[in-house]
Amino acid sequence: MKKILLLVLLALLGAASLVGAVPPPLVDGEVHILDFNQSSDGLERFITVMDANGVSAAWVMGAPLQKMWQEHAPRRPVAYESDDAPVYYYSATDVIVARQVLKLPPHQRRRLYPFICGFNPTDRNGVRHIRLMLELYPGLWRGIGEILTRHDALTRLTYGETARADHPALDAVYELAAERHLPVLLHSNITSTRETDFIYQGEVERAVARHPATTFIWAHAGCAANIERRQHLDNLAAQVERLLRQYANLNIMLSWTLVSHYLLDGSGKAQPLWVTLVRRYPRRFLVGSDIVGRWDKQAAALDRVRTFLAALPPEVAALVARDNALRLVGGGKDG
Ligand SMILES: [Zn+2]
Repeated sequence: MKKILLLVLLALLGAASLVGAVPPPLVDGEVHILDFNQSSDGLERFITVMDANGVSAAWVMGAPLQKMWQEHAPRRPVAYESDDAPVYYYSATDVIVARQVLKLPPHQRRRLYPFICGFNPTDRNGVRHIRLMLELYPGLWRGIGEILTRHDALTRLTYGETARADHPALDAVYELAAERHLPVLLHSNITSTRETDFIYQGEVERAVARHPATTFIWAHAGCAANIERRQHLDNLAAQVERLLRQYANLNIMLSWTLVSHYLLDGSGKAQPLWVTLVRRYPRRFLVGSDIVGRWDKQAAALDRVRTFLAALPPEVAALVARDNALRLVGGGKDG
C-alpha cells in the first residue's frame, strides 16, 4: 500500500514539474533594437523581456533606414508605412547600437551579438562604413545585416537606386564578411507582391553562388507580409530545399510571416512539409522574432516558433533553437 502511495506521489510530482516546465533556452536571431525612427523600448528593458521569454541570447541590429517627417505630414509617422514620406539610409544606427550594447554590464552584454547594418547596399562605398565600424568598435560586431534589398513598400519608399541581393556594391561587403567570419543576414523578397513566379530569387541565388566563402542567412526565406496579403507562395518549401541542397553557404532564418503562414497552418499546427525540410537540413535553420524596437511582440512571435520546434525531434530542435545561431557567430559564450 505504501509503495502504491509513493508511486502516486511521484506521478503527481512529475505532472507538477511538467506544468511549470520552462521551455529550453532559445537564441532570438533577429532583433531590431531600433525602429525606423531609431528609437525603442530600451535595451535594459529588453534584457528583462529576454529573461521572461526564455531567450538566452540574441542577434541584435538597428534599422538601416530612417523615416522622414515631412513638412506637411499630418502627424509624425511612427512606422515606415505610416504615410507616404520616403526613408533614407542612416548610418548612425550602428553607432547607437554599439553605444547601447557597450553601456550594459558585461554579463548582459555577452548575451547580445551585434550586427552592422547602417550602409546603403547600392553604394560601392558601403563596405567602407563596415570597415569603419569594425575599426571604431573592435571585437564588438558579430555579423552584417539585416541588409534590406527587395522589400515591396519599403523599397518603393527608399531614396535612390533599388537595392538587390546581387548588386555589385554588395560584392565587396560579402567578401569582407567572409574574410572577417561575419555571417550576413539578408532580406530579399522572393518575388513582388503581384508576380507568382519567384522573380527575385535569382538575385539571391547569384549572390550566394558568387560568394561561396560567405555565410548567408536568408531572412524569412523571401517571405513578406505585403506578399502574403496578395498571394500564398505554394512552391516556397521546394525552392528553399533546392537552394539548400545546392549551396552549402546558405541558411534560413525562420521568422516573421514565414513562421505564421508557412511553418504553421491556419489552425496554428506545424506544417509537415516544413518539419520534413528542417529535419533534412538540421544545421541550416535558425529562429528569430523579427521585432522592431518594441518588445511586447517577442513573446507571441517566439510562441509560434516554439510550436513549430515542438514538432521536431529534440536534438534537431536544439540545433535550430540555439546551437546553429551560436555557431554562426562563433558564440556559445552565454553558456
Ligand atoms: Zn526582413
